[in-house]
Amino acid sequence: MRSVVIFGVALTCLAFFASAGAAAPPDPLKVFISVDMEGVSGVVDGDQTSATGHDYERFRKLMTAEANAAVDGARDAGATHILVNDSHGSHRNLLIEELHAPAELISNNIKPTGMMAGLDASYAAAIFIGYHAKASSGEGVLAHTGNGTTIADLRINGRSVGEGGMNIHAAGAMGVPVVLASGDQAAIAEIRELVPNIEGVQVKEAFGTAAARSLRPEDAARLIREGTARAVRRRGEIKPVPASLPVRFEVSFTDPSLALMAEQIPTVERTGSHAVAFVADDYLKGYRFVRVLYKFIQ
Ligand SMILES: [Zn+2]
Repeated sequence: MRSVVIFGVALTCLAFFASAGAAAPPDPLKVFISVDMEGVSGVVDGDQTSATGHDYERFRKLMTAEANAAVDGARDAGATHILVNDSHGSHRNLLIEELHAPAELISNNIKPTGMMAGLDASYAAAIFIGYHAKASSGEGVLAHTGNGTTIADLRINGRSVGEGGMNIHAAGAMGVPVVLASGDQAAIAEIRELVPNIEGVQVKEAFGTAAARSLRPEDAARLIREGTARAVRRRGEIKPVPASLPVRFEVSFTDPSLALMAEQIPTVERTGSHAVAFVADDYLKGYRFVRVLYKFIQ
């Protein structure tokens, strides 16, 4: 009798675990993190962000720490899949051996969608870490757009934007909201023009383009982690921001000879001594083409 009872209990337990095992797994929550470097706390000079700079090894570690803070925050908010895209310079800065789970890393450039490589419509949210102000800003640390020497400004449908704006529209084209941006006050203010209720984490206060008052890395990481967790939880309130189509891109170069060369490409028109423009019926096609203009017209 006793053995029959034990057998019965065992069967019940088996049935319970079998049904628990058969239950549908929780939906994946996928978060994409694009990590630039000029907006990392402490960064104030190109010597820290250039692979040949003598301070670069220190600052790539700090960049990795801020990326990890966002990974930790996304995980705190329930993210099950986290994709980190190295988005600075050579796109070979982040130290993969220090990357926190469950993140995976995209590195190296050339990739056609650059800072947004790897993002698709299956992601619930995108996060921008270490972002900086646009070329025409004059107020943000190491402000530039795409290429620090050749691009004076970029306009999308008539609005001057930086990398943040370009990338917000790229995520928007895939239906993904950008829920958090970190950097200095100028970078965050620019991004808020497009996404007013974005979670902004200011890790430093820029004094013009070449100096800043920065948080200690540990304090910056804490704010990024907490902000990311909040932002991922608030993802339903923050809307994707697609550009209206067809979309017009206008690039102003720092040197008119660059506009002259760009003008030779069919579909590109010269709009001024330093500027060219083109129209795309698909935002991501236009985005990829702008990258070609600022990466390869030198
Ligand atoms: Zn950048």
